[in-house]
Amino acid sequence: MKPPKFAYHAPQSLTEALQTLAGVGDEAVLLAGGQSLLPLLNMRLASPAHVVDLGRVPGLDDIRVTNGHAEVGAMVTHRRMEVDPLIAHAVPLAQKAAGYVGFRAIRNRGTVGGSVAHADPAAEWPLVLLTLDGEIELTSANGSRTIRADDFFESVYSTAKRSDEVVTSVRFGTRFERNWGFWEFQRRTGDFATVAVAVACVVEGGSVTEARVGIAGAAEKPVRCTTAEQALLAGSTSAASEAAAAAQDAVDPYDDVHGSSSYRKRLVFAATKRAATQALGHHYGVLDHA
Ligand SMILES: Cc1cc2nc3c(=O)[nH]c(=O)nc-3n(C[C@H](O)[C@H](O)[C@H](O)COP(=O)(O)OP(=O)(O)OC[C@H]3O[C@@H](n4cnc5c(N)ncnc54)[C@H](O)[C@@H]3O)c2cc1C
Repeated sequence: MKPPKFAYHAPQSLTEALQTLAGVGDEAVLLAGGQSLLPLLNMRLASPAHVVDLGRVPGLDDIRVTNGHAEVGAMVTHRRMEVDPLIAHAVPLAQKAAGYVGFRAIRNRGTVGGSVAHADPAAEWPLVLLTLDGEIELTSANGSRTIRADDFFESVYSTAKRSDEVVTSVRFGTRFERNWGFWEFQRRTGDFATVAVAVACVVEGGSVTEARVGIAGAAEKPVRCTTAEQALLAGSTSAASEAAAAAQDAVDPYDDVHGSSSYRKRLVFAATKRAATQALGHHYGVLDHA
């Protein structure tokens, strides 16, 4: 299948890209790795008048760790997240999740910024950003703003980003580097998650002082489960099971061809229990991350 006709723009700088976007308005889409956009164009599910390619824009592929955050440029690929030593050290949860994004060929081209902007409810990066208290930096011709992941994802393929804005970077909180867990169920390797759960904790003096539990695949966007977080903070010996039960009770998943609502609820239980056990077990030395 072939895409509809569009005007192709290949800006050589971010300023040029932003000016182009400001000039053509809602008629434009950005092209990053193309792993979601090109299928949409080829199947004629999107018909933009303009495509603005970020592929030649310098400065969007840095990774640095500063002030409690790992800052990742929008054009960093999923594959680089999987192998970068800074990511492995500062945000090992992100490294783990990267390996679940599609297939190697998709990870080689698809980008973190593209995934965040696309906002598939079962995608890994929105889930990991939400769980690691992440932020998204958006830049337009009028300047930059930063939005917390909690406020950025609105619904299926819908975010707080305006059409004149580019996702320029994302920031993952690094304070969870010791106590984290991630568990995902895919029907086949490379598929989107049916359900994925990420857990991130801060443990001080033997107590869990901060807990974040994120769930993907059970709602129209990734969601945090505060009742599961409270169970982890309470710190009983069966905290992981209590968190899992709380998460299962909290979600009201949709039915689709991959699973019924009740099946997804049971997956949420299993995924939360495993991810929470990993997060706490790492602290207590019971389990280690394979
Ligand atoms: C077979 C298959 C399996 C996949 N499996 C998974 C999976 O398991 N998990 C997963 O998370 N993803 C999966 N994906 C999607 C993949 O991760 C994409 O890479 C990702 O969704 C989009 O990133 P991209 O760089 O390819 O963006 P593109 O396809 O280029 O763009 C996607 C959308 O984001 C916008 N956009 C891109 N970059 C920016 C930016 N910097 N600022 C603002 N808007 C921007 C575009 O305009 C477009 O609307 C899969 C894709 C395929 C084809």
